[in-house]
Amino acid sequence: MAQKPLRVPCPTCRQPALFSPANPWRPFCSERCRQRDLGAWANEEYRVAEAPPQDGDAADDGGGGGGATRH
Ligand SMILES: [Zn+2]
Repeated sequence: MAQKPLRVPCPTCRQPALFSPANPWRPFCSERCRQRDLGAWANEEYRVAEAPPQDGDAADDGGGGGGATRH
């Protein structure tokens, strides 16, 4: 039904990669990115997972706020 080409961000270069049988390297955009990612994993270069900067609601792990429950 849906014939819209699904695109996902390439884990390596973040560019939109075609996620379909037409793209044998999915979810990567190209063979190079795929190899690069696998190689990095093999070398454990990704041991420290760098969290991508997320804008918007950041870590709001409720530090304050009177949580005293009174009854
Ligand atoms: Zn890529």
